[in-house]
Amino acid sequence: MACNRCRRLLFLWVDREREALPVGPLAEHLENCPECRSQAIRVERLVLTIRSRCHREAAPGHLAVRIRALLGLD
Ligand SMILES: [Zn+2]
Repeated sequence: MACNRCRRLLFLWVDREREALPVGPLAEHLENCPECRSQAIRVERLVLTIRSRCHREAAPGHLAVRIRALLGLD
């Protein structure tokens, strides 16, 4: 997996949308790429900060479909 694809997937990865992701290749890339691993840690911290400060509501179902389409996951 290339770094640019890995970084596009990180927000979904940390936001628990992992069932829709190629988890094996993503985890393998993070294992072997310190730069993307650092980026994953930063993104996860950002998501945790946002969650702790914002009320969370479920996103509409069509949004997940659009995001998956934009990322080429369908
Ligand atoms: Zn990388």
